[in-house]
Amino acid sequence: MSRILVVLGTRPEAIKLAPVIHALREHARDDDEVVVCSTGQHREMLAQTLGAFGITPDLDLDVMEPGQCPSDVVGKLMIELGKVYKQTSPDWVVVQGDTATVAAGALSAFMHRIKVAHVEAGLRTHDKSKPFPEEINRRVAGVVADMHFAATEQASDHLLREGNAPNSIMVTGNTVVDALRWMSDKMRQNTDSSVNGHADNARLVLVTAHRRESHGEPIREVCRALKEIAEQHHDIRIVYPVHMNPNISGPVREILEGVERITLCDPLDYPSFMERMSNAYMIITDSGGIQEEASVIGVPTLLLRESTERPEAVQAGVVLPVGTDHDLIVKSAAALLTDPEVHARMAKPVSVFGDGQASQRIAYELLGLGRFDDITQQRSVNSSFDRVGSGH
Ligand code: UDP
Repeated sequence: MSRILVVLGTRPEAIKLAPVIHALREHARDDDEVVVCSTGQHREMLAQTLGAFGITPDLDLDVMEPGQCPSDVVGKLMIELGKVYKQTSPDWVVVQGDTATVAAGALSAFMHRIKVAHVEAGLRTHDKSKPFPEEINRRVAGVVADMHFAATEQASDHLLREGNAPNSIMVTGNTVVDALRWMSDKMRQNTDSSVNGHADNARLVLVTAHRRESHGEPIREVCRALKEIAEQHHDIRIVYPVHMNPNISGPVREILEGVERITLCDPLDYPSFMERMSNAYMIITDSGGIQEEASVIGVPTLLLRESTERPEAVQAGVVLPVGTDHDLIVKSAAALLTDPEVHARMAKPVSVFGDGQASQRIAYELLGLGRFDDITQQRSVNSSFDRVGSGH
């Protein structure tokens, strides 16, 4: 019997843990228990995203107040999650990624002598301030985790170099691929849930930017670049779902509100955002998850960061880091928008983030069902014997 407590707090954690929760519930035996605890770090965006995957948290902490800094959030979460751990006594706490929820969730579990499984483990820039504070959040989780589910070999190498035991690391692929597949299957089945991209025939440029390092002058520079791109290219439509953080929404609305060919909107629910990504001619973003999704779908992406902990997407040629320099953003966008060959070179779906079975691998491991790949291979050998045996 295993009791597995999945702790999550933000939109990207919901997207990347939803398929893990589905897989855990699919394979749980009668005496296993899978409990989902939301810390409410991104309250509305989290509920919206979990809802899209048909998941309702079993436990919901309400720790967010306006204007809290990361250390306030981590402090409160340590206390509140500690109470949850005492009440539920799980065998495993599962966290994903690099948020305050992850740092507090993992550290508090360690203090309660509960085993920690870290999903998307081993991402590193090796720069404490970029991304801030996420690089340290994920390193904290890495130090205390008993099981590291690394999305790629490069992430696994970081963990090995940090001295983690090889048998505590499993390369699974990224669960974002599983999430994309699950959602596109659901959207195909339910055509009512499909959302229209944009009304005109303009090429769609999808933009997101929210990172803490971009607050202040960098986000203003990005906005001025977007304005210039919209002025230079008349056959495009820039769609920018604006993050709710006032440090972002303030300057974005001040500089871009009312600019021709730019549509500002509230954050989109995941199916709507996925639909926009699939229809986009290019993406401009500072997001971690969108770099991975863009690589899976094959949409050329300008990355508003100088370095990335996802070098696989850059090496595969789909993502180009441009930082927040105005001229470089405008020039790189112009190359993609005016030279079809440049665009075609970047517009290729790649599978560097896995085969869409990451969640199955994680669920099998946590539930003690054996190695997913060994078991599925054995099953396919058995079924081919059965076919031979039955004369087919
Ligand atoms: N996303 C979404 N709606 C939006 C913008 C993004 O559903 O309006 C999704 C996107 O598909 C990706 C995730 O949110 O899976 C990325 O979240 P975010 O950029 O906040 O975090 P990061 O990936 O940088 O940690």
